Amino acid sequence: MDIIKTKKKMQEWADSVRKEGASSGFVPTMGALHAGHSSLIKRARSENGRTVVSIFVNPTQFGPGEDFGSYPRPFDEDRRMCEKLGVDAVFCPETAEMYSGPGYTSVRVSSITSSMCGKMRPGHFEGVATVVAKLFNCVKPDKAYFGQKDYQQFRVIEALVRDLDLDIDLVMCPVVRDDDGLAVSSRNKYLDGSQRAAAPGIYRALLEGESMIKGGEKNGALAVKRIKESIKKSLPGCRIDYAGVFDALDLSPVKNIGADVVIAAAVYVGKARLIDNILVKL
Ligand code: AMP
Repeated sequence: MDIIKTKKKMQEWADSVRKEGASSGFVPTMGALHAGHSSLIKRARSENGRTVVSIFVNPTQFGPGEDFGSYPRPFDEDRRMCEKLGVDAVFCPETAEMYSGPGYTSVRVSSITSSMCGKMRPGHFEGVATVVAKLFNCVKPDKAYFGQKDYQQFRVIEALVRDLDLDIDLVMCPVVRDDDGLAVSSRNKYLDGSQRAAAPGIYRALLEGESMIKGGEKNGALAVKRIKESIKKSLPGCRIDYAGVFDALDLSPVKNIGADVVIAAAVYVGKARLIDNILVKL
């Protein structure tokens, strides 16, 4: 497995894979790899001749006061996991290497970033879209793999690829959960024992919303009320950043449910901001 630290070396590696005629699958990550990441890596391996994983904790997608400094960075463990999973190259540039240019340019995806996490974390998706565009230009993949766990992120990358005519296929992979339903996340490490025990209440609340909607509830506000009550009941000390029912494509809040929706929430449990969602196809 190759460890690649510069953009130029990554591009040369990508070019040599192209020359061989092999397809390449790409899994962008911020490291602290877990079962969610490995599901993406396995999928990428099964569909491509070469698999590249990037590990880069991108400063520009963190807001002031967020956890950029404390975000876990267990590089040796990550490298071992990638090796075990048969990854061909890990792209892990330092921040100064990644942002070596003057930084005059950024990618801003409008409209679909005005709700959900985009509303609560101003600038976050501009940081994400810009770094993913840069990573795509370094890794030059045929296919890129993202988790449904970050549903809005997937829609943002999809818009970026469509609007800028990038020749990359995107694959959305299902949310990987622990046995009790909690979505696996690098940020679950921040939870203490009792917070961890209560955290699956977020998913249970989303499931309640899903069963209301599948049972015929058309009033988005009523579903949201139930979801928020359920979260507060299971996690009395938490702070709900947002919880809502959103159009599955344009991500606007839905009052009258008539098409596919995503039920999504972000909840502060202690230091951890946990996100989760369920896609409901009608
Ligand atoms: P991150 O390292 O948190 O930036 O995540 C890298 C990729 O892994 C993103 O596409 C995430 O959506 C995906 N991912 C993170 N957690 C999960 C999970 N529990 N299930 C599926 N995909 C995930």
